[in-house]
Amino acid sequence: EPKTEKMGFETEVSRLLHMMVHSVYSDREIFLRELISNASDACDKLRYEALTNPGLKTGKDFGIAITVDKAAKTITVADNGVGMNREELIANLGTIARSGTANFVNELTGDSKKDVQLIGQFGVGFYSVFMVADSVVVTTKKAGDTTAWRWTSTGEGTYEIGEAEKASEGTNIVLNIKDDADEFLEQYRLKNIVTTYSDHIAVPITLAIKGGDEADKEAEEAKVVNNGSAIWARPKSDITDEQYAEFYKHVGHAFDEPAHRLHYKVEGMQEYTVLLFIPTAKPMDLFDPARKNRVKLYVKRVFISDEGTDLLPGWLRFMRGVVDSQDLPLNVSREMLQNNPVVARMSKAITNKVLGELETLATKETEKFEKIWTEFGAVIKEGIYEDFARRDQLLKLARFKSTNGDGWTSLADYVARMKDKQSKIYYITGLDEKNLRRSPQIEGFKSRGLEVLILPDAVDDFWLQGAPDFEGKPFASVTRGSSDLDDIAESDTAEKKDKAPEGEVTTLITLMKEVLGDKVSDVRASSRLTETASCLVASDTGMDMAMERLLKAHNQ
Ligand code: ADP
Ligand code: MG
Repeated sequence: EPKTEKMGFETEVSRLLHMMVHSVYSDREIFLRELISNASDACDKLRYEALTNPGLKTGKDFGIAITVDKAAKTITVADNGVGMNREELIANLGTIARSGTANFVNELTGDSKKDVQLIGQFGVGFYSVFMVADSVVVTTKKAGDTTAWRWTSTGEGTYEIGEAEKASEGTNIVLNIKDDADEFLEQYRLKNIVTTYSDHIAVPITLAIKGGDEADKEAEEAKVVNNGSAIWARPKSDITDEQYAEFYKHVGHAFDEPAHRLHYKVEGMQEYTVLLFIPTAKPMDLFDPARKNRVKLYVKRVFISDEGTDLLPGWLRFMRGVVDSQDLPLNVSREMLQNNPVVARMSKAITNKVLGELETLATKETEKFEKIWTEFGAVIKEGIYEDFARRDQLLKLARFKSTNGDGWTSLADYVARMKDKQSKIYYITGLDEKNLRRSPQIEGFKSRGLEVLILPDAVDDFWLQGAPDFEGKPFASVTRGSSDLDDIAESDTAEKKDKAPEGEVTTLITLMKEVLGDKVSDVRASSRLTETASCLVASDTGMDMAMERLLKAHNQ
């Protein structure tokens, strides 16, 4: 018997597992989806690695086998994918590698009812097995290695790891099913779970039931239970919304429903299939500095890569899905994908298509579009300064909050509402919509019926620098200098205030300048305030105030 080592889970994992073990989550069946999803990823990874590493070539058919032993009360999920070595086992099943899961743990409250709701929102991948299993044994051998490893745990604080016997590469996961979870030992139940969640998985999934009674005899022999063809290659009319949604969850490692999908095929000069989704909720890594695009690239149905493929620009990084190319060579390495002209051409065309789709939604399905914009507008706006060629198109697409009501407005609609003598598009930036709306700096604008855009995203200060105007109308910050309000009369509805005599105002200003000294560069009377007595503004030539704050926050 080879020696085993006892190791402690990372603290966060322990917290997570504690909640899994004691979970009262009603959708426990998702553990199988998670195991199948991982097994499928493992097959994809090995298939790809074998393309460029002939030492690995086995020519074998990939597959996932689910075997139930009713007598022993176990479920085994086995794959012949890439497997894991010792370090990978420790890193993947002992720590929290994914930013999404890390966020999940941070949100845990200790109140099991509240926490249980989080499972559905975040998903927890592999660790979900402890909702249905007392103990779990993972035996795995990495492709190309000679040593296999066994990982065992009851999900309470520690796990054991040691050398093991395993002839073939890949991973076996044995779940010792809890007494209250024996429904998952039934053929009917498992078959149903697989077809509900994993029908789209592109490798065959077999199911076999052993150790049962007479009724299970015909199920002893392993039978394929999923459709098994790549979903994006199937005709649209054959795919249900539910199947699309399940695929989205698998491909995007997501737990929300897709807000929108785009499925099409391109033929001619270039040949490729696209199946992309816009999530409902922000993916966890949305504001990671790496800004990685997560769309998976396949070549003739073989998985190639899901990071750094440059298939979509950074400002569309919230999208999930696959692009399957017929033109790239099968043995394309991940390095070759950078600056690859075929990828560049696809990326350009796909980006245009996505933009076109968003434009259509904006006009034809406004409500849906505005939901998407609410989640991802701040990211899309990065394109205004990053993607010069698409700047005008993105400015047209963008929606903003303004003093004209609570809803979203386009710049075109803003311009249509501009007053006769108004030549500029006024805006205020800052980090909180509510505060901005109360800002004294916009009073004079409001009283003249001048609309002010409320820009609460950090990115707003950046795109404004790269976009001086919209269709000839310059953007102008209301926190800046002596704005040209005097030309425009206060609207009749606004209460006319008695003007103080000129002399008194001059005296007051002189006095204030004396008191404030070099804390300010100037003090002057302004027509921009109606309710508030005074406010701070940046000078015409100085930096916009919010920009100054942003840079200060970054220690510049
Ligand atoms: P995710 O799949 O989102 O990364 P999981 O918790 O489901 O998160 O899995 C964690 C990691 O463990 C995976 O990213 C993978 O590296 C590894 N893993 C899990 N199951 C397998 C498997 N069957 N074969 C190889 N690696 C696996
Ligand atoms: Mg997973």
